[in-house]
Amino acid sequence: MSEICFDCLNEIFGGNEDAKDYVLSDDLELCENCGEYKIVVITRRDFRYYFDKFRWITYPIFIISFPIILLFAPLIRFIIRKKLEKEQAERKQKRKTNQNGD
Ligand SMILES: [Zn+2]
Repeated sequence: MSEICFDCLNEIFGGNEDAKDYVLSDDLELCENCGEYKIVVITRRDFRYYFDKFRWITYPIFIISFPIILLFAPLIRFIIRKKLEKEQAERKQKRKTNQNGD
């Protein structure tokens, strides 16, 4: 993100931006749009910002969950296949009883 002040950002995005949604610099820096020294916008407070801010907890969860998903994926696939086979067998049985009824 290029460094621009909040006033310029508001002008560019139509004036409906909330300062709470953005991380602003502590010191005055050169705004690349108006050329004045102002408090500039560093980043937007979005998912990625919070993911990075709380990385001491989000990163380990992310790293730990990956092998767990890999381990459980075949098991879940097995359960789903069993369920589908059961449903198919039931459907076949139902069709058979319908044919006998006619
Ligand atoms: Zn500016």
